[in-house]
Amino acid sequence: MREDWLKRFADSPGTLKSAQCQQTVVPVLDMEIGGGKFVTMAGPCSVETEPQLMATAHHVRQAGARILRGGAFKPRSSPYAFQGLGLEGLKMLARARRETGLAIVTEVMSEDDVPMVAEYADILQIGSRNMENIALLEAAARSGRPLLLKRGLVASIADWLRSAQVVLNYGNPNVILCERGIRTFETATRNTFDVSSIALLKQISHLPVIADPSHAAGVRELVPALACVAVAAGADGVIVEVHPDPENAWSDGDQSLDFAGFDEMMAVMSPYIALRAIALSGMKHRAPLHEAENLQLVGAAQ
Ligand code: PEP
Ligand code: MN
Repeated sequence: MREDWLKRFADSPGTLKSAQCQQTVVPVLDMEIGGGKFVTMAGPCSVETEPQLMATAHHVRQAGARILRGGAFKPRSSPYAFQGLGLEGLKMLARARRETGLAIVTEVMSEDDVPMVAEYADILQIGSRNMENIALLEAAARSGRPLLLKRGLVASIADWLRSAQVVLNYGNPNVILCERGIRTFETATRNTFDVSSIALLKQISHLPVIADPSHAAGVRELVPALACVAVAAGADGVIVEVHPDPENAWSDGDQSLDFAGFDEMMAVMSPYIALRAIALSGMKHRAPLHEAENLQLVGAAQ
């Protein structure tokens, strides 16, 4: 690894690749995140109603997602916006897991809620606004559940890795990093998707990296393209917002895909995922693919 990277990230040595650890593999139910297989997490921004959640869970499952997302505790930018169903939402998520076999990722916002959320979730999401909430990181780490650590809205990669190091220091090795876009001068997209963070993290860190194109883009039209870019940059998976009726979603409708949109995203991502699998299986040093092989590959992935 470059000397200057070692210096720049010297505060978070436990997150960096080393002779002891080249890749952390996070076990979640019968899956492994970071183990080479690409994982898709999908579901609504907020858990709203049982029919909304169940329809989404069944749809994303049959389209290839393995993990259901959905917020029961919502950190909203506006104090007047829907704040989430709380425990009632967690129970709906548990029912969706029972019915579909999908694992559950859901946000926890306060250290007081960690035991309750950890009872229902397979992965605890630490939201952007809480990336540096050390009391929450400690409580979540101690729950023993894997954590999805979202990048703070204005956090540098070094800040982000410092927060991951806090979790590791509390004895929890199962940290999954999530790039969800950062604030820049650009306002045409909700956030600026920092794809270079994914490429850089795959060079320096052994922690799995997941991309969230939904919160990066802020509009559904851009989500499939950003998801493909994330795969090409080396992400271990994506997390995307999907809703049966985005126009009437209680939160983040503009960036939520409807079911057909989700299917389309899965289809456009699939050749990228197939190429990624080839690269990971050690064929990345071979000669470039012939055009015919390329076509075969795309056909096979569909
Ligand atoms: C979310 O996942 O719905 C969310 C609020 O994400 P973030 O913390 O990245 O804004
Ligand atoms: Mn959201």
